[in-house]
Amino acid sequence: MSSASPPTPTSPRSPRNIVVIGGGIQATSVAFHISQSKHLPDGSSVTILEAQKLANAASGKGGGFMARSWGDGSPTQTLHELAFDMYEELCPMLGVQSYRKLPVLSVSPGPTAKSRQDNKSKNPSISDIVPNWLDGSVGRLAPMGFGDDTAQVTPREVVERMIEFAAIDVVLGKCVGVDAEVKGEAKAVTGVKYVDKETGEERVLPASDVVVSAGPWSCNAEHWFDGAVSLPMDGVKSTSIVWRPPRDGSPVDATALFCGEDPRYNTHLECYPRPDGTIYLCGIGGSDYISTQQLQNDAFLTDCPPKEDRVEAATASFQMMSHAYQTDGELLQSQACMRPCPPDAKPYMGRIDGYHGAFINAGHNCWGIAWAPACGKAMAELVLEGSCKSVNLNPFNPSRFTAPGSRGGRGRKKKGVSVGEQW
Ligand SMILES: Cc1cc2nc3c(=O)[nH]c(=O)nc-3n(C[C@H](O)[C@H](O)[C@H](O)COP(=O)(O)OP(=O)(O)OC[C@H]3O[C@@H](n4cnc5c(N)ncnc54)[C@H](O)[C@@H]3O)c2cc1C
Repeated sequence: MSSASPPTPTSPRSPRNIVVIGGGIQATSVAFHISQSKHLPDGSSVTILEAQKLANAASGKGGGFMARSWGDGSPTQTLHELAFDMYEELCPMLGVQSYRKLPVLSVSPGPTAKSRQDNKSKNPSISDIVPNWLDGSVGRLAPMGFGDDTAQVTPREVVERMIEFAAIDVVLGKCVGVDAEVKGEAKAVTGVKYVDKETGEERVLPASDVVVSAGPWSCNAEHWFDGAVSLPMDGVKSTSIVWRPPRDGSPVDATALFCGEDPRYNTHLECYPRPDGTIYLCGIGGSDYISTQQLQNDAFLTDCPPKEDRVEAATASFQMMSHAYQTDGELLQSQACMRPCPPDAKPYMGRIDGYHGAFINAGHNCWGIAWAPACGKAMAELVLEGSCKSVNLNPFNPSRFTAPGSRGGRGRKKKGVSVGEQW
């Protein structure tokens, strides 16, 4: 369904050296699906290049909630549906323990515990899914799902299991550029330049193909491909917290909560109890918008501190709803991470014009975990088969913000060398 592919410089069955930049859930899913594809020629290599460590950013700190039918009918709907179904098969195959379907309640912040009791008694179907830890003061409760099409997974575990299962090579180092040679009317990728994390030396990974999948920092690819593509991106930086499992080992009921805006604390909590007994909270307000330019200067790549005032606000807001956690709750973790947001809230998925063997898969906003299997599958098809069958990638064209004259294309010259007429 994707647009016509430019000719590949090598025969389809020549071994490929494929480098995927990033070690989050999106990059890992791309590398995993490429490595599992029957279309990967024998003798090929698949390598992840990660600047810090696997799942270091949002893919280690995001909620991991997914919902099959919550799309708004826009082009990303297929990603919701395909990925939800894929997780159901993938998680048992990979041995992922943190995956489960779970019901979801909408909660209006409210003054009394009594209103909760009223809610319970009036609607037995709600009372079935009100979790034991929601025993404090809340307003109106309404079911958003009974667990048929809503699920959760702890994203770090998915990343680790995919890497292990497919035995993908991981190189720790920060990508700083892409080597390419002129090939006919375009350029062809030959290598990926990186600074080795341990030694600080600049090195090159030989590559026939590169897939940029480095979350919000993927906008750096504007420089790596000499301005052939414009990748405007905001990083929305948010704090999240995780509560320890109860000390007495009592069960933590599995219902996710989506809470309305609570003006007392400026929070709109999302609560995800996890199978390990922890409760993850995001939606705690006070997010910061990090610009493309800041991201291109590697803002928050090595260190992404949480905001202490938001930790306190979220703690107070949650403890108001949960008497159990007010009296006996203990924080395990406070952290922050960024979700990657292109201006039209659609991901960048496709080829980088003007280059053979150059692709991008980034900008999956607040659904990057939920969509990861579908994105990985789609990109593997595009990279290995030349077109994508599973997902219509046209709406996600990475060149949609690129001025026509600068698309690595028509008559474009680099150091005096013509690099392409047909784009
Ligand atoms: C608070 C919060 C809660 C969320 N909850 C959910 C949720 O419940 N469900 C959901 O589906 N989504 C959720 N998301 C969104 C989701 O976390 C992201 O969309 C997703 O993790 C993005 O994955 P990624 O692999 O593209 O990027 P990231 O996880 O950001 O990974 C990018 C990686 O690239 C590496 N990198 C950067 N630059 C370079 C370079 N130059 N060279 C090499 N490596 C580099 C980084 O070190 C990093 O490891 C949430 C996000 C936030 C902020």
